[in-house]
Amino acid sequence: MTVQTARAVAFFNYPDVFTSRENEFVEIFREVGRRGAFILQRDLVEFEQCLGSYLGTPHVLGVANATDGLHMAVRAAGIGPGDEVILSSHTMIATAAAVHFAGATPVPVDCGADHLIDPAAVEAAITPRTRAIMPTHLNGRTCNMDALGALAGKHGLAIVEDAAQALGSKFKGRAAGTFGAGAAISFYPAKVLGCFGDGGAVIAGDKEIYNRLYQLRDHGRSVEGAIESWGLNSRLDNLQAAFLLTQFKDYGDVVERRRALARLYAERLGDVSELVLPPGPDSDADHFDIYQNYEIEAEWRGVLKQFLKDNGVGTLIQWGGQAVHQMKALGFTQKLEKTDRLFERMLMLPLNMTVTDEDVEYVCEVVRAFYGYKA
Ligand SMILES: *Cc1c(COP(=O)(O)O)cnc(C)c1O
Repeated sequence: MTVQTARAVAFFNYPDVFTSRENEFVEIFREVGRRGAFILQRDLVEFEQCLGSYLGTPHVLGVANATDGLHMAVRAAGIGPGDEVILSSHTMIATAAAVHFAGATPVPVDCGADHLIDPAAVEAAITPRTRAIMPTHLNGRTCNMDALGALAGKHGLAIVEDAAQALGSKFKGRAAGTFGAGAAISFYPAKVLGCFGDGGAVIAGDKEIYNRLYQLRDHGRSVEGAIESWGLNSRLDNLQAAFLLTQFKDYGDVVERRRALARLYAERLGDVSELVLPPGPDSDADHFDIYQNYEIEAEWRGVLKQFLKDNGVGTLIQWGGQAVHQMKALGFTQKLEKTDRLFERMLMLPLNMTVTDEDVEYVCEVVRAFYGYKA
């Protein structure tokens, strides 16, 4: 039986990624196709240049996906067998897998109140084998890079950033992905800038790492075209780059819209004491958040999720509800009680370009009704 609800708000609308500007995309498909421009062509180069000037770095390369990008960035930073890399347990398994496939050991630690890696937990996990910190700029918010940078400096560690969710997010005016030796961004369809399949970018901290990444993503070929090292095949399809390039033109508006939706959620739910909301878009001057996700903490999370569903509202628990350290099949033995507790409480509300102000009003009305607050 389907229940009639006042409104339906999907958590994410995949067809809309395409249909939002279908004619434009079809035109690009035709134009790029007729040029036969499939691998490492001008659309990719142009997209890399646009990304670079937006982020404030010349060292950007399109890659097949962010997971590959992270793996290559970890290797390019010289991390390998015997090394430990500290990361937040509240991240995608891809962050840890990048470390694993470089031959090193991922060490998950707790996050803080903002759901980002806790610098104090990082410091407590440092051992003589620690070689790097891998902060995830989760939900579109950049980690406290002053604190992490100070730790890295003090202990001689590299920083490799998982900026998969954070294109355009900033800490003290500096873009996520530009703080460390390397970083990766994802263009998975549900990301703020998404393509029609897998896609990603890597950012190098300097020219030397850029050259290593350049070779790693394309069979070890150097800029001159000669094979100079062992490499992978992890190129961003030129066609995907062309689709991304056209969407990137109004990326600033997309970010502003997402921030406006976050502002509206904060306005409507700020007084609900059973919830912990993400930091608001104007809550502190150091952070510029792009709101890849709107991840709240909620009392009676499971019942709230069902109540929202019964009222037509889609929600999602990030990573299928499993933190990295909870994945026992992968051999993790850490005990992280703060993260365990968070994973019983966290929930993502719909926030994307198809969500209207009225949708947010409705979602908040349902949440308020659940906890017995006046609309
Ligand atoms: C999406 C995501 C990834 C993986 O990105 P892909 O492009 O799908 O490989 C890695 N880390 C985080 C935090 C992500 O959200």
